[in-house]
Amino acid sequence: MDGQASTSSGAMDERRQNALKAYRDKMRNHENSSQTLKTLRFSLKDLQKDYEKTEDDIKAVQSVGQIIGEVMKQLDDERFIVKASSGPRYVVSYRPALTAAKLKAGTRVSLDMTTLTIMRILPREVDPMVYKMSLEDPGGATFAGIGGLGEQVRELREVIELPLLNPELFQRVGIKPPKGVLLYGPPGTGKTLLARAVAATMQTNFLKVVSSAIVDKYIGESARVVREMFGYARDHEPCVIFMDEIDAIGGRRFSEGTSADREIQRTLMELLNQMDGFDSLGRTKLIMATNRPDTLDPALLRPGRLDRKIEVPLPNEQARLEILKIHSNPVNKHGDIDYEAIVKLTDAFNGADLRNVVTEAGMFAIRDDRDFVQQEDLTKAARKVAEAKKHETKLEFTA
Ligand code: ATP
Repeated sequence: MDGQASTSSGAMDERRQNALKAYRDKMRNHENSSQTLKTLRFSLKDLQKDYEKTEDDIKAVQSVGQIIGEVMKQLDDERFIVKASSGPRYVVSYRPALTAAKLKAGTRVSLDMTTLTIMRILPREVDPMVYKMSLEDPGGATFAGIGGLGEQVRELREVIELPLLNPELFQRVGIKPPKGVLLYGPPGTGKTLLARAVAATMQTNFLKVVSSAIVDKYIGESARVVREMFGYARDHEPCVIFMDEIDAIGGRRFSEGTSADREIQRTLMELLNQMDGFDSLGRTKLIMATNRPDTLDPALLRPGRLDRKIEVPLPNEQARLEILKIHSNPVNKHGDIDYEAIVKLTDAFNGADLRNVVTEAGMFAIRDDRDFVQQEDLTKAARKVAEAKKHETKLEFTA
C-alpha cells in the first residue's frame, strides 16, 4: 500500500517538475523575445532615420531648378510650343499627370531642365504691384461727397453702371456699350473722386494705377504689368480700372525716340491691345484721367476704346459753394457761416484748394486754442490759400 502511494507521489513530483521547467522555458523565451523586440525597435528607429534622409536626398535631387515658360500653341495631342522665359521657343511634350485641355495658350508652366517636358502648371504671376493696387479700397466715397459735378456724374454712371447692371438694354438695340471713359481737366478737380465714387456705389473691385509709376518702376516690364493688370481685373470682375495720369503712357507716338520712348510706346501698344481684347459687355470697365488731353495719342481715343470723354472743369461759383459746404460739414463750427462771402474769395480754386481752405481754417482754430471754426478762420484761410496759389504760379513761370 505504502509502496503504491510513494510511486504516485513520485509521478506527481515529476509532473510538477516538468511543468515548472516548461514555465521557466517560457519565461526565458519571453525575456529573449522582449530583448529582440527592444533591439528591433532601436534598429527600426535607425532605419526610419535612414529612410528620411534618403527621402530628403531624393527630393533635393528632384528639385533641380525648372525653367519657367508660357504655352504658345498646341501642335497635336502630345506636343506644344512653349516659350521659355529666357526667350527661345521649344516644341515639348507634357507630363502624363497633366491634362492637355488645361494647357491653353498663355498658361504659365514649369519645364524640366534637361528634357523641357512640361512638369507643372503654375498660377498666373500676379505682380505684387498689381496686387497692391487691387487693395485700394474705394474708401467710402459717395456721389453725395462730390460737389458741382452733376452732369459728369450722370454721364459717368451711364457709361459704367448701365452696361454692368443692364447689359440686355444694349444687346436689344444691338449696340456695343462703351468700354471706358476719359476724364480730363485741370488737377484737383475731382477726377479720382468720381472714379472712386463709381466703384464704391457699385461695390466693384477698384484697381487704381498711376500710369507714370508703371513706366518708371518697371522698365522693360511695363507692358507685362499692363497685361497682368487686365488679367487680374478679368479674374476679379466686376472691376473698375482707374488709370490716372494716362498721358504718361498714352502720349502721341513719334517715329523715332530714345529707348525710354520706345518703352512707353510698347506699353501703350499693350494697353491698346488689352483694350481691344476685352469684351465691352464684360464686367471690366476702364476710367482714365489726364490733365493734358491734347497730348494723347489719337489711337487711344478711337471709338471702341475710350469712346466717351468727360470734361471735369474748374468749379464755378455754385460748384465751389457746394464743395466748400461738403468739406466743412464734418467740422465743428460756431455761429452762422456766410459761405457765399468765402466763395467770393476763391476765384479759380479747384476742389483740392477748397478742401485745403477748410483744413487751414481748422489750423487757425487750433492755434487760437479753440475747438470750433468761425467765419473769420475761413476768410483768413481762403486768403492764405489764394496767396500760396499765386506763389505757385510764379514758381511755375520761373521754372
Ligand atoms: P489730379 O489730376 O491731380 O489727380 P484729380 O482731379 O484726380 O487730380 P482728386 O484727387 O479727385 O483730383 O481731388 C483731390 C481732392 O480734392 C479730393 O480728395 C477732394 O477732397 C477734393 N475735391 C476735388 N474736387 C472735388 C469736388 N468736386 N467735390 C468735393 N471734393 C473735391
